[in-house]
Amino acid sequence: MNANEEKICPACGKVIHPSKRTAHNQKYCSEASCQKTREHEKKMRWRKKHESEWKQLANKYSAESHKRRREREKAMAKDLAIAEINGKDQQPRKNALLVGMAAFISHAKTCDEIVNFLARMERKGKALIESCLWK
Ligand SMILES: [Zn+2]
Repeated sequence: MNANEEKICPACGKVIHPSKRTAHNQKYCSEASCQKTREHEKKMRWRKKHESEWKQLANKYSAESHKRRREREKAMAKDLAIAEINGKDQQPRKNALLVGMAAFISHAKTCDEIVNFLARMERKGKALIESCLWK
């Protein structure tokens, strides 16, 4: 192909004059948006050519991101449970006593079990208080 030959950029439609060095394969102009289009087209060609490989990769990354999200949620739940047990801002000693007693009474081994036990006891306590108030 002649180096001085004019080409039309398929992205923006501008006339381009590829340099001698790149004339054989330059199709797009140097505009950033056209280069972005060129990269995208390249990626799409690769995906089409390696479709099964691409699907495997996509599944792998999707599974990994799902796993990371689950781990993040677990860590957040644990932090919340610990914050709940420690009490956010007040009476650490009273909370420590309460948590210790709750663990002793319920034989709980984990933070989750203690938090669940305390929540159950709180519900029970509220129900008892309400029933006393209405009598
Ligand atoms: Zn262009």
